[in-house]
Amino acid sequence: MKAAPDDQLRLLDLQALDSAADRLAHRRRTLPELAEVEELSARVDRLADDAVLLETEDSDLSREQSKVDADVEQVRARMQRDQQRLDSGQVGSPRELENLQSEIESLHRRQSELEDVELEVMEKREVVQTRLDELRREREQATLTLGETEQRRDATWAEIDAEADKTATQRAELAATLPGDLRALYEKVRSASAGIGAAALHRGRCEGCHLQLNTTDLNRIREADADEVLRCEECRRILVRTADSGL
Ligand SMILES: [Zn+2]
Repeated sequence: MKAAPDDQLRLLDLQALDSAADRLAHRRRTLPELAEVEELSARVDRLADDAVLLETEDSDLSREQSKVDADVEQVRARMQRDQQRLDSGQVGSPRELENLQSEIESLHRRQSELEDVELEVMEKREVVQTRLDELRREREQATLTLGETEQRRDATWAEIDAEADKTATQRAELAATLPGDLRALYEKVRSASAGIGAAALHRGRCEGCHLQLNTTDLNRIREADADEVLRCEECRRILVRTADSGL
């Protein structure tokens, strides 16, 4: 393939813009904020799940507490009724009197047992609610940090996108000045060779694969016409001669 030496040199400018665009795209994909956002989102979700579990536990305990409260109330009412009967002096038979007194005693014991349970449930609830408050605070903090990290990510993305737009415009303008066949060859090699389609020959070395050319290849290049499009024998990239080629 033939191409004017100036066009070949401009291929290196095109390569520089493509490499810049690749670096920007890579930076966009690998921002540290991306991993941070992922981690924080997972943390917020986990804290929300943990809170749901504790809320369920708390509402179970609340139901248990209401039940014990109702039981205590029932025992208290029964005791009051028994006591009133006892105080009224209407209970005549000694046997009935004894039964009543024994019932009041057993109701006292029952009340004391229920009050212990009540206390135990209240203590459990306090532990659950304290942990729930902690979880909610942790979640609030994590959500806040997540929002800040997302903002930082978006700001950096916007910078990268603006830079990428600028690079893309420059690239389009430059590409339009190059002959179609040279451009097509460059694109083909670039897509097959890790993003580098054209490389300078710098002091006898290919800047694409960084290998020093042997004397035979260098001699062949010295003899080639200036408009001959050369390829590196090692990496097959388009090899562009410059003033620093060492020929
Ligand atoms: Zn090479």
